[in-house]
Amino acid sequence: MDINEILIHLGEDRENYFNAVAPPIIQTSNFVFKSVEEFRAKISEEMDNHVYSRGNNPTVKILRQKIAALEHAEDALVTSSGAAAIAIATMANVSAGDHIVCIDKPYSWTNKLISKMLSRFGVAYTFVDGRDINNIKAAIKDNTKVLFLESPNSLTFELQDLEACAQLAKLHGIITIIDNSHCSPIFQNPIDFGIDLIVHSGTKYLNGHSDVVVGVVCGSKELISKIFHSEFMTLGVNISPNDAAMVIRGLRTINLRVRRSDASALEIYNFLIAHEKVENVIYTMSSDFPQAELAKKQMRGNGGLLTLVLKTDNKESVLRFTRAIKRFLMAVSWGGYESLMIPSITFHDIPGVEDSPIPWNYVRLYIGLEDPEYLIDDLDQALSTM
Ligand SMILES: *Cc1c(COP(=O)(O)O)cnc(C)c1O
Repeated sequence: MDINEILIHLGEDRENYFNAVAPPIIQTSNFVFKSVEEFRAKISEEMDNHVYSRGNNPTVKILRQKIAALEHAEDALVTSSGAAAIAIATMANVSAGDHIVCIDKPYSWTNKLISKMLSRFGVAYTFVDGRDINNIKAAIKDNTKVLFLESPNSLTFELQDLEACAQLAKLHGIITIIDNSHCSPIFQNPIDFGIDLIVHSGTKYLNGHSDVVVGVVCGSKELISKIFHSEFMTLGVNISPNDAAMVIRGLRTINLRVRRSDASALEIYNFLIAHEKVENVIYTMSSDFPQAELAKKQMRGNGGLLTLVLKTDNKESVLRFTRAIKRFLMAVSWGGYESLMIPSITFHDIPGVEDSPIPWNYVRLYIGLEDPEYLIDDLDQALSTM
């Protein structure tokens, strides 16, 4: 479906609510039935009828339809966070005695879900370097039920070949799940490559304004219904109608926002890569990105994320850079209007804590919606203090 149609019209039955242009916030916990027959019929199909807002709510339903269409999926669920989306999509497809294969550097709470939490319930796991499909092939066992991907992954932007992963998993009856937060549906649609379930931290690009924590799961009607009737309803991971309306508002401009971040990130890449204080910039759309060909095959763009590798053997000069930067806010997350940075040195030299595997001269940048020249001026002056 045309993206304009999805963002402005899909799911918006305006004649049903006074021809209001903006969607109504149906702030109710429950819905009334006129008869036992109606009650009985609706409660047996709670995913798509109006019974109780932990399950389905008209405002949330508008958002579900838009997200599903953006990801070329049949249906979607909207959850209280990206972490909740990751948890319910994974948990619904494993039982005690099963095994999960996951890429070796996933989002930190995905790692903890699999290695610390699901392992308590008897689910085994193997983490593998997913850049080579042969590593994934070698990790599959008879009891493997889920292949968990994140492409590009956080901070180092490693890719997996989505088509090859989907084909391999289908041969073994394994459900594939991908965290697609980095690209957003604007630049990558894993369902087109045969991936079964897509999760997002909607906190990032989907909402896009750094003011709501939200997640989504997209997939076939069958898989989404299975998740709805197990983890979604039992764990109670719905979002409020109010937050859903906020996300619908944010989503209106996703096509503008993500493309603007993408274009600015390219300009900033070109500035940084030529700078004498920069050793490297990890950026999926550069010709010297190690998986450039695969990136071109499965991604239509990168969005606003890149990782700056500072040229220094001295931690103090990295700290000077971080103190000098004024126009990038130091904060986790990404996808809002404001540019952000995460210096890896934050996760080094903490007493009693193992150093991060990401070297201390790495700084992840999120390029927001400011003019690129404004950001380049700031990077330039901060690099000069090193
Ligand atoms: C932020 C993030 C998450 C977690 O999402 P929340 O909305 O913060 O729960 C999951 N995966 C990736 C890649 C993320 O960046």
